[in-house]
Amino acid sequence: MSAAIVGASPGGDSPPDPTASGRRHFETLAMVCLAGPAASRRCRQGSAPGWRRYRTGDEVLAHHEAAHGVCGHLLGRYVWELTIIEDRTVKVQKTSFSAGHAWSGDTPEPPSERPRRERAETDFRRAAEASRILSIIEPPFGWRSTLRIVRRMRAQANALVDANWRSIMALAEELLRQRELDQEQIARFLKDETRGSYWRTRSQEGGGT
Ligand SMILES: [Zn+2]
Repeated sequence: MSAAIVGASPGGDSPPDPTASGRRHFETLAMVCLAGPAASRRCRQGSAPGWRRYRTGDEVLAHHEAAHGVCGHLLGRYVWELTIIEDRTVKVQKTSFSAGHAWSGDTPEPPSERPRRERAETDFRRAAEASRILSIIEPPFGWRSTLRIVRRMRAQANALVDANWRSIMALAEELLRQRELDQEQIARFLKDETRGSYWRTRSQEGGGT
């Protein structure tokens, strides 16, 4: 996935407390990042514990990118583009290439300049960075706190993927067919899901963290 962590403003109906809106922003980033790997894992799960389901690389990738899209939308982001078309000019880490891409952000319109995929970091590294920033907002500080937040973000991302698995599967199927979806196609597909509904549900439940 691709999203600028620094300099982006929190989207949606942000609460007035700057700490709360900052926290929501970085929680969103961490969860959107972690939703991809969560979906890659989940789509290979078999029907019984211990069983693995065979999936092609494209199928895994489509679920991965679709989860970035669906979860991003539910967390209040605008999803501008999803693709599973490999870009061999873009290296991720040392050995693998950027196979897919999910592009989303806080504004209805994408920025005029596309982010170059070669600056793509891995989802885990981005989630860890967002968690580190959250640990500065949320005392107690330090690496133990970061680790605790990483675990919490992972659990929340897993729960979000589980709760919305049908939508993720449907979008993944569409992505497999088309290979690339633009903002309009994605919006059409997610029309029944309310953007940012994750946070509304959370505040109704009275959950602060
Ligand atoms: Zn990803």
